[in-house]
Amino acid sequence: MIEVFDSPEKWMKFRKLHKLKSKTLGFVPTMGGLHKGHSSLILKALNENDDVLVSIFLNPTQFNNKSDLENYPKHDELDINILTDLGVKYLLKPSYQSLYPDNFTYSVNESVNSKILCGEFRPGHFQGVLTVVLKLLNIAQADNAYFGEKDYQQYRLIADMVDAFFIETRIISCPIIREDNGLALSTRNERLSENSKNLSSNLFKIISSVEDQNEALKKLHQLGFEVEYLTEKWNRRFVAAKIEDVRLIDNVTI
Ligand code: AMP
Repeated sequence: MIEVFDSPEKWMKFRKLHKLKSKTLGFVPTMGGLHKGHSSLILKALNENDDVLVSIFLNPTQFNNKSDLENYPKHDELDINILTDLGVKYLLKPSYQSLYPDNFTYSVNESVNSKILCGEFRPGHFQGVLTVVLKLLNIAQADNAYFGEKDYQQYRLIADMVDAFFIETRIISCPIIREDNGLALSTRNERLSENSKNLSSNLFKIISSVEDQNEALKKLHQLGFEVEYLTEKWNRRFVAAKIEDVRLIDNVTI
């Protein structure tokens, strides 16, 4: 049976007792709406640690767009079944109040890499992400924490934040899990029509096969994508594009 902790305090109290057994703890933070991308992180964590804590928290402070937050898929019961089937023993599912006793008057700011790519188009997004991840890492007190390369910019910012603030948890990156047609799995994909889901597989196909950036951009526009950016950085090519008002991101190594 999975044990659910609905406040930071409850987990931290349990963790203190648990630490005495000197086991390694892996941590996988999520926003729920679990899919095989999340499962891959959890399986890696289960494989590399004695115990695993997963968190589900739909973090409002990282949503710069209210309707994106309101329409974000939520599947509490299904998520708990998935975690139970995977063999996860501990779930942290805190309320906003318990995680933000300060009501977001305190936050983490990064001034360089959070301002480019997604940061340019989603003002305040990474401030919310870094703030919630700092809270969660402090609460979890894990040995290892797992993040997907699907959100590569997020992973980089978190890895650098952990260095900047001397947090002792090791940050581990995990490869992108895709549908057979190449579309990167994402909770938001649920909001796509069948037709757009098929069309969306072109996002990966084009950024991974069309070498010339302008050519790739042209092809995406022709297919109906509203491209926010197509940029190269950190030896990767990054894209963010909207289709049917659903925002998709992806990246590939160059
Ligand atoms: P989210 O619930 O979207 O905040 O994602 C939780 C974690 O799962 C983040 O570290 C994501 O990067 C990771 N993740 C989401 N989708 C995928 C995917 N398709 N492949 C690998 N990791 C993923």
